[in-house]
Amino acid sequence: MYKTVAFGGVFDDVKLHQAQRVLVQIQYDFSRPMRPNQTLIVTHDHQTLSIAVEFKPKRHLSISVRPDLTVIARAPLRQAMDEVERFVRLKTNWIFKSLKQLQAAPHRTPQKLSAAELAQAAQLFEERISHYFPPFAARGYVRPKLRLRCMKSRWGSCRKGTGAITLNTELFKTPPGCLDYVVVHELCHLVHGNHGKRFWALVERMMPDYRERKRRLHQWRRTFT
Ligand SMILES: [Zn+2]
Repeated sequence: MYKTVAFGGVFDDVKLHQAQRVLVQIQYDFSRPMRPNQTLIVTHDHQTLSIAVEFKPKRHLSISVRPDLTVIARAPLRQAMDEVERFVRLKTNWIFKSLKQLQAAPHRTPQKLSAAELAQAAQLFEERISHYFPPFAARGYVRPKLRLRCMKSRWGSCRKGTGAITLNTELFKTPPGCLDYVVVHELCHLVHGNHGKRFWALVERMMPDYRERKRRLHQWRRTFT
């Protein structure tokens, strides 16, 4: 069982989400249109972290540190950005502590692939990109070049505009369906650079069962070898 510690207690998976939220009371107003997401860059102890800020029709300001090591702040629609910043600054120690605990939690250590495996992986990954790329080509996007890397903390990356998609060589060993989820996830970043609502809506459109695949992938990573 995967565990983490937040606010001095030990919580299992089910409670993790609740445990890792912190709340303050704030006024809200539904009359304003939705605000676009923003990103906050936080530096702490020579470490830099980008935090996605989502504005939603909700009452409270909250921060979640997720098992995939992403940090999301959710704020009421009318919340001033400097108040969000202040709140994040107050919680900085807690955020970095939570991230450290998640990173230290039991998980697989990436092992570099052999040359033969690497060639096979490249071929397979290219093939899966080709499989999922047509709807993106139809929207006018250029097929990104594939890069392979053995990485510890992320499955892949794809920056809008760079024309490159990086996939973790570890994906070569993951259970069926997981590689495809990461491919679709990264391709959707061609359209949306963040992890906002519209990004996830697009992922779901391209792959309706993505949640189950994502869960399988995180589960696999937590199993010792
Ligand atoms: Zn992403």
